[in-house]
Amino acid sequence: MKLKVNNPRLIQSNPYIGGKFLGINGGDSFLVHNPFDNEAIAEVGNCGTKEAELAIKAANDALDTWKSLTGIERSTILHRWYELILRNEDDLARILTLEQGKPFEEAKGEIRYGASFIEWFAEEAKRVYGDTIPGHQQNKRIIVLKQPVGVVAAITPWNFPNAMITRKVAPALAAGCTIVVKPSELTPLSALAIAVLADEAGIPPGVLNVVTTDRAAEVGKVLTSSALVKKISFTGSTPVGKLLLEQCAQTVKKASMELGGNAPFIVFDDADIDAAIEGAVASKYRNAGQTCVCANRFFVQQGVYDEFSHKLVEAIKKLKVGNGMEAGVAIGPLIEEKAVKLVEDLVKDAGEKGGEIMYGGKRLDASTDSLLYEPTVITKATSGMKVFSQEIFGPVAPIFSFETEEEVIQLANDTTAGLAAYFYGSNHSRIWKVAEALEYGMVGINTGMISTTVAPFGGVKESGYGREGSKYGIEDYLNIKYLCWEI
Ligand code: ADP
Repeated sequence: MKLKVNNPRLIQSNPYIGGKFLGINGGDSFLVHNPFDNEAIAEVGNCGTKEAELAIKAANDALDTWKSLTGIERSTILHRWYELILRNEDDLARILTLEQGKPFEEAKGEIRYGASFIEWFAEEAKRVYGDTIPGHQQNKRIIVLKQPVGVVAAITPWNFPNAMITRKVAPALAAGCTIVVKPSELTPLSALAIAVLADEAGIPPGVLNVVTTDRAAEVGKVLTSSALVKKISFTGSTPVGKLLLEQCAQTVKKASMELGGNAPFIVFDDADIDAAIEGAVASKYRNAGQTCVCANRFFVQQGVYDEFSHKLVEAIKKLKVGNGMEAGVAIGPLIEEKAVKLVEDLVKDAGEKGGEIMYGGKRLDASTDSLLYEPTVITKATSGMKVFSQEIFGPVAPIFSFETEEEVIQLANDTTAGLAAYFYGSNHSRIWKVAEALEYGMVGINTGMISTTVAPFGGVKESGYGREGSKYGIEDYLNIKYLCWEI
């Protein structure tokens, strides 16, 4: 094991099932690599069908006791977990940077962001209010109860190895559900580390299980087809989300889907351009462009097109690219070779179709197989380019120009995705009109940063459904039952 932290207990290499880190029979394992230098940093137990079934059984066995606790009791335990995560912030961030690549300061931000869901839902656990409805007949009384859906399975991605897990586990546990988490095969260490702290916080065995595997399809099949699992919560790519939904159909499982985005970032002539640049850098280049809410297509009104493009280039020249563990680095490596190849293909396609690479456009050191990609700006982008319709997932900003409000709304909505959108402008009546016309689940107005625990995160169209965070987030883990009582 090549990881060094202050609290060595946080480094685990086996799946967490029924309250124990279980060795795999036969010793099947897979390697976890640091994307900065491709060094193997850990070898992790590789679960298959048998372990997935064991985890589901553990979650099912733990369900009755966990759901019968009061909301206040569950809240107390979740609060302890929250405190422990904050106390171990540096170690958790280090593990995260080493397996995922993002800059250490950004990783610390993710640990705090991830923990904030636990704090938030620890509070919400106390407020799972039902309803009373005036009866439809004189002798009828109607009462609405909200009850935990039961065992939940969560499948999570590598881009936020901590927060995408807490965002699902915290509301599930607060609601009284138990859960099996299958983290990404690229970042299982962060998931295991927070399981250690869950155990320390007193979350009972079986309530949270972490199934590590590089056989995602096999384990995914078990999680989606088990009759014991009542809900799937998935964050990841749209094709995998669609496949999981198909698999869930057989048992008519509840599902929450946070799928891919294709965010427009619109800059109107009357925008504060410096503020727009700041928002663009935050939205586009955070996590090396690997978030589902990253600005994907910049639409800039003709009058400010040149100014915006030049200022964006000046801003990204200052972003240091390198090892996330090095102080001052703003952009770490992409997650794997496949991701770099995809970005290279999109940039090449844009170049062939008339795009001008104003800055960047290649690996940092083109002669190596490094996963570092230069922050890039492409001007003269057009809707015939792949970057118009595909999620880039890299630090590349294609800039399209437009003339009118109607035109840009049509362009922005011309996609199957509907996760996040952003726009900058100062005319108030236009702000309302544009905000209402954008077919997206989230709209940032004069800001490039929209993710927060207190607001409902989620998309429309093929970006999925369900909401995470906020007062709405717990609803995805609750069933409604109504009692009709004749007196
Ligand atoms: P990304 O492109 O961001 O890696 P994926 O959708 O491939 O997105 O991965 C998100 C999560 O889905 C990961 O945990 C991955 O292991 C899992 N996954 C990928 N393919 C499948 C599958 N066929 N069944 C279940 N889970 C899957």
